[in-house]
Amino acid sequence: MIGSAIIRRLEAAGCCNILTPARKELDLMDSIAVSDYFEKTKPEYVFLAAAKVGGIMANSRFPADFIYQNICIQNNVIHTSYRTNVKKMLFLGSSCIYPRDCPQPIKEEYLMTGPLEQTNSAYGVAKISGVQMCWAYNKQYQTKFLPVMPTNLYGMNDNFDLETSHVLPALIRKFHEAKVSGADSVTVWGTGSPMREFLFADDLADACVFVMDMDMTDDEYVNNPLINIGTGKDISIKELALLIKEVVGYSGNIVFDASKPDGTARKLLDVSKLEKSGWTPLKSLQDGLTETYNWYLENTGE
Ligand code: GDP
Repeated sequence: MIGSAIIRRLEAAGCCNILTPARKELDLMDSIAVSDYFEKTKPEYVFLAAAKVGGIMANSRFPADFIYQNICIQNNVIHTSYRTNVKKMLFLGSSCIYPRDCPQPIKEEYLMTGPLEQTNSAYGVAKISGVQMCWAYNKQYQTKFLPVMPTNLYGMNDNFDLETSHVLPALIRKFHEAKVSGADSVTVWGTGSPMREFLFADDLADACVFVMDMDMTDDEYVNNPLINIGTGKDISIKELALLIKEVVGYSGNIVFDASKPDGTARKLLDVSKLEKSGWTPLKSLQDGLTETYNWYLENTGE
């Protein structure tokens, strides 16, 4: 989802020589393959968006996969970017690297000031180690590696699998299927009270290109840089469900299943640093949801 959005954004800006190896062509978990690929193609700018990602259930059930695969991918790409003299590298983290109970909205400096949310701590620790790795290489080797922390993302090419996806695509699918089958109700996990912030993947791509282009001094790279990317606004899962119900055009009821986990109560990013640099998102949640639902209808054969 993120990779294809970044490619669209780079193409729109007229960039050429965009390298987009598919998984079959380059397995990022294979250190020798990554090294050979970088030696051969000599990328100058790297967007590290590839990761093992998933929703609350996938993270709770497969923590070993999340920590192992993410650390492998990061180790290979970050170390090889250093070895092959990549000019700049952007490492995409996640808002779940921040402590579970930190003040809201979450400022970049709250990183590693408290315990993580249990449902995704393995993933969070993997991403924190990626941030630390960028900082360590900048200090020791004067690289220009910049970690950015996007909030919850959604958009075209999202994962709509009900077991492993995040809430937004899951609810699009659930409401759509209920509408088609004429079901009386749709079940939403948890209590509906957790608050989440959602950013359209194409807005994230725009922010990534903006940040990659930003002029930063050598000192700023050495001084543990970190930039949150989000909208600065959040809504409850209940409000999200009502919005998706409306976009899909479903007229039945919503039932909350409190036996499923809520996860973090709130994780709203403080995006003032990025805003001060001159970037703000374009897409409203309503428009982004409509576009994503249209993409779902056209591409999933439902
Ligand atoms: P999180 O942001 O890491 O907690 O990941 P999710 O996007 O998977 O879940 C966000 C919130 O939405 C949690 O409180 C979930 O319990 C809730 N939720 C409600 N219905 C669903 C659903 O059908 N799928 C998922 N993944 N989450 C849901």
